[in-house]
Amino acid sequence: MKEVWGKVEENREIAPGYFALKLEGDFPPSKPGQFAMLSPASALDPFLRRPFGIAGQGPGWIRFIYKVVGRGTALLSRLKPGESISLISPLGKGFSQVEGTSLLVAGGTGIAPILYLASVLERFVLLYGAKNSEELLVEEVKRTIGEKHRIVYVTEDGSFGERGLLTEHIPEGNFSIAFVAGPYPMMKEFAGNYRGRAQFSFEARMGCGFGACYSCVVKVKKGGEEKYVRSCVEGPVFDGEEVVWI
Ligand SMILES: Cc1cc2nc3c(=O)[nH]c(=O)nc-3n(C[C@H](O)[C@H](O)[C@H](O)COP(=O)(O)OP(=O)(O)OC[C@H]3O[C@@H](n4cnc5c(N)ncnc54)[C@H](O)[C@@H]3O)c2cc1C
Repeated sequence: MKEVWGKVEENREIAPGYFALKLEGDFPPSKPGQFAMLSPASALDPFLRRPFGIAGQGPGWIRFIYKVVGRGTALLSRLKPGESISLISPLGKGFSQVEGTSLLVAGGTGIAPILYLASVLERFVLLYGAKNSEELLVEEVKRTIGEKHRIVYVTEDGSFGERGLLTEHIPEGNFSIAFVAGPYPMMKEFAGNYRGRAQFSFEARMGCGFGACYSCVVKVKKGGEEKYVRSCVEGPVFDGEEVVWI
């Protein structure tokens, strides 16, 4: 874990309130499911860095997809090409890749780590849901994974793809594992409906990102005992079998 600086190559609004941020720099390698803590501004306000799942990485670049929800993300959205930003990356534990065909499941901004994972997997089906067509980043998905994979799009209002909740449209298939990222209630519902092996990526609110503040705990069971563990160091990806849904 170390602080690195990136230069903004692109910080583009890809849908109302959603931005794709691409940084140039010498970033330590990451694996899908890991995250970074970004400093939205060079001043001390806001004081805390903000966590974002890595949406893609290659030689000399790293990418994020974020939604503007508050002060930190609003400041991020104002970064212009050529400006510099400090980040700590990579952090946490990523997805464990498994042979066979995977089911990738993304709700809302959960699409960010799932796109990174999709870019390194050979065989998968993607189930991706959002509130409505404006919040469904279809072009982003096509640009990253092309057209050769099966994708099930779901919107709550039916404005694109299937209508309803993502968890009502889980595709049938002989999947070796499901990789799931998105809001807690969606992941909990998915865990209740899905019988196969699954890994879940949590977006628990966090302060430091490296284990010092204990603000991001997730309840798990290990060795017959239930306990809270820090999502930033033991996660943010957890095996479905160990998560205690609350
Ligand atoms: C491991 C991890 C990965 C993440 N990856 C992404 C990503 O790829 N893209 C993305 O858009 N967001 C992601 N998030 C969420 C992102 O960190 C927050 O949206 C961001 O920190 C909000 O900062 P802010 O200053 O704009 O908002 P704040 O002013 O801090 O909060 C604004 C509002 O957003 C709510 N909020 C803030 N953080 C969270 C959270 N973690 N979960 C639910 N609600 C929250 C607050 O309760 C408040 O209502 C991730 C979070 C974690 C922990």
